[in-house]
Amino acid sequence: MNEEIAFVPSEQVAAAPLTSVTRWTSAAARAVYELPFNDLLFRAHSVHRENFDPNRVQLSKLLSIKTGGCPEDCGYCSQSARYATGLNASKLMEVEHVIAEARKAKEGGATRYCMGAAWRSPKQRDMEMVVAMVEGVKALGLETCMTLGMLSSEQAESLAEAGLDYYNHNIDTSKRFYGEIITTRSFGDRLETLENVRQAGIKVCAGGIIGMGETAEDRIDMLVTLANLPAPPESVPINMLIPIPGSKLADAPPVDPIEFIRIIALARILIPASHVRLSAGRKGMSDELQALCFFAGANSIFVGDTLLTAANPGEDRDSSLFHRLGLAPEAMSTVE
Ligand code: SF4
Repeated sequence: MNEEIAFVPSEQVAAAPLTSVTRWTSAAARAVYELPFNDLLFRAHSVHRENFDPNRVQLSKLLSIKTGGCPEDCGYCSQSARYATGLNASKLMEVEHVIAEARKAKEGGATRYCMGAAWRSPKQRDMEMVVAMVEGVKALGLETCMTLGMLSSEQAESLAEAGLDYYNHNIDTSKRFYGEIITTRSFGDRLETLENVRQAGIKVCAGGIIGMGETAEDRIDMLVTLANLPAPPESVPINMLIPIPGSKLADAPPVDPIEFIRIIALARILIPASHVRLSAGRKGMSDELQALCFFAGANSIFVGDTLLTAANPGEDRDSSLFHRLGLAPEAMSTVE
């Protein structure tokens, strides 16, 4: 048999109306994920161009406003008090300090300032300070994002009133695999917080982590869950696990870079109009891997040499990479 006739011509694969799908099934998403690599990248990049300037990347800066000592047991995290990761816990940072750091980030070109606290959920006494942080950072002309753990609808409303633009709460993985990684709160708890945030009128930032021992099916289903939310997240961070010594996932095997690019491409196709952020793990990625992720549809990164508690590429390496790739930071007016 002539093997060539067994192949679907690339033009047909690339022309199928996948972007018109509004509710994804696992099977349909898997069929896209398993396309020949070149077809998948061509399709993802085409979707990317339809929705964004492909040569612009949104820059966010992340600050840990309260580090370590978290009661949750997320198996990947350096900040869980349940693992001996060697991290020193700190108290909630002073509001003035946070605003001074945000000012520096703005001077460095960041358009969004993300503030993260290692909490199960904020206590009522913390809310006054985080509200003041949102107001102060917002007054600098930056977009604001927070990640504080689970939020009640009242807490989400307080943050919305303060002017919070985004709330980050990752679903991490598929519903099926979730219990292998976290036992102190459920997948349903995560979705409830996302709903509270959405109802309060705050934009949603939600993604997950690749490399925790999950299968390709888990990765695909994580994206299907996000794509099928009542409104998909405006921002989708895709993290590559950084194995933390002492954590449950300290010995997790490395992720195949080709599979990682496939997930970025699938995120772009399933959630076409949202920013897909190449998030944790970038320091360990080659320039070529990052370049292919940008081609596949990633269009947001964290800048600065620290990401909460993990290392991130320094600004010199990022600006050199941007220069070599002809990429430029996205202006705030086009940021979602
Ligand atoms: S809730 Fe956040 S800070 Fe706490 S262990 Fe989980 S990922 Fe880490």
